[in-house]
Amino acid sequence: MSELSLHIPGIAGGTFAVLGLGRSGAATAETLIRSGARVLAWDDSETARAAVPADILFDLKNADWDNIAALVMSPGIPLTHPTPHPVAAAAKAAGKPIISDIELLAMSQPGARYVAITGTNGKSTTTTLIAHVLKQAGKRVEVGGNLGQAALSLLPVGPDGIYVLELSSYQLDITPTPIADVALLLNITPDHLDRHGGMEGYIAAKELILRAKGKTSLGIVGVDDAPCRQLFAKLKGGDRRLIPISVETAAQGGAYVDKNGILFDAIRGAPEKIIDLKSIARLPGKHNWQNAVAAYVTAKALGLSAAEIVAGFESYPGLAHRQELVATLGGVRYVNDSKATNADAAEKALACYDNIYWIIGGKPKEGGLAGLESYYGRIRHGFLIGEAAAAFAKQINRAFPVSMSGTLDKAVADAHALAQREKKPGAVVLLSPACASFDQYPNFEIRGNRFRALVEEIAQKGGKA
Ligand code: ADP
Repeated sequence: MSELSLHIPGIAGGTFAVLGLGRSGAATAETLIRSGARVLAWDDSETARAAVPADILFDLKNADWDNIAALVMSPGIPLTHPTPHPVAAAAKAAGKPIISDIELLAMSQPGARYVAITGTNGKSTTTTLIAHVLKQAGKRVEVGGNLGQAALSLLPVGPDGIYVLELSSYQLDITPTPIADVALLLNITPDHLDRHGGMEGYIAAKELILRAKGKTSLGIVGVDDAPCRQLFAKLKGGDRRLIPISVETAAQGGAYVDKNGILFDAIRGAPEKIIDLKSIARLPGKHNWQNAVAAYVTAKALGLSAAEIVAGFESYPGLAHRQELVATLGGVRYVNDSKATNADAAEKALACYDNIYWIIGGKPKEGGLAGLESYYGRIRHGFLIGEAAAAFAKQINRAFPVSMSGTLDKAVADAHALAQREKKPGAVVLLSPACASFDQYPNFEIRGNRFRALVEEIAQKGGKA
C-alpha cells in the first residue's frame, strides 16, 4: 500500500456496489479495490464505464443485494427526486446502506479532523479560503469534495491533518454519518429544488451537516436568511455547539461584519475588532464578507490566532472566474466573473464597483436582467455578446449606452478602448455575463479563461489593444 493513497481499513473481502463512474466514482472504485474489497461498478453511460477496468463492470440492475455490503453512489444520481434511480431503489428495498465517497474518506482517516462546508452560495470561495488560511498557518490540509479533487483522490493527512470538504446537498443526502468536527452552513436560498422535492427537502438536506458528531463538534450557521435562522433556533442547545455568523446584524455570541466591513468576534461576549475586510482586495462585497467571517470562526475553532487568520486573508489569491482580478492597466481593473451565469450572481459583482464597463450576454436565463435595474447608474457602458444581445439591448432600453459587440474578443477590445479613453476613477472592465456560456463556449471556465487570455495579451502589448 502506498503512503500516498487512501486505504480503508476493515473492508477487505467485502463487496461494494459503485454507481456512477465520473471522477468521484472512479476514485471510489480504485480505493475500494486497493483496500481489498470486491467492486461491482456501473454507470448508465458507456463512455463513463470506460473509466474503470472492464473486469469490475457489472450491471447493478441484476445485482444480488444479499452479497453486497453497501451502495456507494455519485452525488449526481437521484436518490429520491425527481425519481429514485432504480439501483438506489433496489439497494434501499434490500436494506443496504447508501453512502458517498465522503463517508468512505471518514472511514479511511478516522484520526483526522474534518471541516465540512455547505450552503447555496459561496461554498467554493469559503472552502478555498479556509484551506488557504490553515495551510498558511502551517497545518497539514487537504481540500476537495464537491470542489476540485474527489474525496478519495485526496492524500492521507494523518492524525494531525485536516480535511476541508465542500459538500453539496446531494452529497449530504448520501453521507449518513455526521463526519464534521466543524460544520459550516453559510446560507440557504431556493436552488436545485427539483432534486430535493421542494424547499423543505432542500433545507432538510442542508440540516444534515449540523448533526452532532460529538460533544466537541462545532456548527457555524449564517443567520442572514430565514431558513438558516430557523435551523439555528431549532438546533441551538443541542449536542453540536452552534455559533451564529452574520453580515446583517451584530450576532450575539457569534462573529459578524458591520456595514463598513469591520469583522468583529463576539464569541466570548464583548465584541473584539479583528480586521477591516475592505482592505482585502480578493474578497470584495458583502457576500464575500459572509465567506470571510465563516472562515474566521472555523480557523479560530481549529486553534489559529486572529493574527494568523488575518495574514491568511491578506495572502488569499482568490478563485478563478469569481470576481477574479486579472490585471490593473492604467488604473483600470479587469475582472473575470464568468461564474456569474445568472442575474443574481451578476448583482453581487455590480454591487462592488462604480464606473463599470460591463460585458454581458451569452445564453440567457429566464427573466434576463430583471432585478439589476437599481445598479444601472453604476454602468458606464454595456458590451453585449452572444445569443442574449438583442433581447438584453431591449431590456436595458437605453438606461445606459450599449454596443453590440457580439463576441467576447470584440467586447474586451471595445471595453478596453473606452475605459482607457475615459479614465474614470475606480473604472472596471467586468465580465459578469448574467448568462450561461453554452451558445459560444463549452462552459464558464473556458469563457473566463478566454477573457483572462485576452486581457493578458493586452497587458503584454503594454496596454494597447
Ligand atoms: P458555490 O461554490 O456555492 O457555487 P462560489 O464561491 O463558487 O459558490 O461563488 C459563486 C458565486 O456566488 C460568486 O461569483 C458570487 O457571485 C456568489 N457568492 C459567493 N459567496 C456568496 C455568499 N456568501 N452569498 C451569496 N452569494 C455568494
